[in-house]
Amino acid sequence: MTATADAINVASTLPEQRRILKTAIPGPESVAREAERRANVTDGLGVTLPIFVEQMAGGIIVDVDGNQLVDLASGIAVTSVGSSHPRVVAAVQEQVAKFTHTCFMVTEYDGYVQVARRLNELTPGDFDKRTLLVSTGAEAVENAIKIARTYTGRQAVVTFDHAYHGRTLLTMTMTAKHAPYKRGFGPYAPEIYRVPAADPYRWVGDEQNVAEEAFDRFAEVITTQLGADHVAAVIAEPVIGEGGFIVHAPGFLKRVQDFCRANGIVFIADEIQCGLGRTGDMFASTFEGTEPDLITTAKALGGGLPISAVTGRKEIMDSVPAGGLGGTYAGSPVACAAAVAALDVIVEEDLPRKAKAIEAIVLPRLQELKSTGIVGDVRGRGAMLALEFVRPGGKTPAPEFAGAIAKACHDQGVLVLVCGTFGNVIRLLPPLVIGEELLTDGVDVLASAVRAVAANPPSVSGKSR
Ligand SMILES: *Cc1c(COP(=O)(O)O)cnc(C)c1O
Repeated sequence: MTATADAINVASTLPEQRRILKTAIPGPESVAREAERRANVTDGLGVTLPIFVEQMAGGIIVDVDGNQLVDLASGIAVTSVGSSHPRVVAAVQEQVAKFTHTCFMVTEYDGYVQVARRLNELTPGDFDKRTLLVSTGAEAVENAIKIARTYTGRQAVVTFDHAYHGRTLLTMTMTAKHAPYKRGFGPYAPEIYRVPAADPYRWVGDEQNVAEEAFDRFAEVITTQLGADHVAAVIAEPVIGEGGFIVHAPGFLKRVQDFCRANGIVFIADEIQCGLGRTGDMFASTFEGTEPDLITTAKALGGGLPISAVTGRKEIMDSVPAGGLGGTYAGSPVACAAAVAALDVIVEEDLPRKAKAIEAIVLPRLQELKSTGIVGDVRGRGAMLALEFVRPGGKTPAPEFAGAIAKACHDQGVLVLVCGTFGNVIRLLPPLVIGEELLTDGVDVLASAVRAVAANPPSVSGKSR
């Protein structure tokens, strides 16, 4: 009871859902704290925007200088239900006061089971499922590979161009982009192979046949270079996240899944960024007509608390002998309480529908920007939308345009993130609960920044590709 009442108090002090600039961004208080940060925290951590946050709610970030920024990032696709959703706050407060930790491998608690039950029900596929909970996205991917290897008795893992799966040894190896994720961190894990993604914008072959050609290449590499009977798993992001919000050509992933079925290969969908309502369906796999054998989730799962999961076919998930999976903090009771609340909010507030509404508002606005000549592609699904910047007249990536536009947005109090293998994509990941006015304000700022950079491009260096 007390917990709920406190949560309501939190809710009543929420910042007004409006952008307010009181100082330059970052303001003097953030700048002062940044100096202490530099003196104490490793430079190995990058930062998109060095403001220090005081409070967040809905689509607003309040910084220590009293500025209110529009949040088009949600951390990185984490606070889909909004930061500090009252139900998440109440659930966490209640749980943390009862007990903080038992280690689920030592003594059990119901929250873990409730998260597992919900994920088994929500993930696509009308088959018997089981779930493993761990703490981070990378840990979920690692465990999915461990499970697939045990189940198949095989070792090879096939990943795609532009993939991002995490920063641990195995998942950084599976990640495509060298700098900054892999540079200097070798040697990498063995038995990881890469095939082209069915990238409709940058496909080098016949633009009318991207799915067919990409699938043929995929099947050829597996058959001729690896041997299908040596492949444990194929893992794909249904919408590629970090690598540039690439939506595979229609039909491609279904063919990949069918190939995996025919060859005893475990097909894994990494829905850590695109899952749980973000794309306008509970899972992006559904748009592809796929029912993956295993699905990894994280980011939005805990409503801001660290928790991740592997969910999939019972016979695959149960193939690992007891004791083979786990972790001290895996499925922490506090994170589980948050995840039960967050999943209930996603379902009961129908956040996939809100993601579709966000797409309906934002996508046409982004399409209009193609006429500036520097937007090569507009893509994504639901509330996972992106602009790819190129030099006018071709497809040469223009990371300097993306950087200048992101900086202009930040200066105006709108937080956007850059991504993409070539660093030339601006991605939008608003909280799914963001209000329409605030969203429109954020997109207005972005649109003016794109037009300003197109009219007065920053000088470019380097050769054309
Ligand atoms: C963020 C991300 C990961 C890694 O998650 P962490 O919690 O940072 O370890 C893995 N896969 C995808 C698709 C991601 O977006």
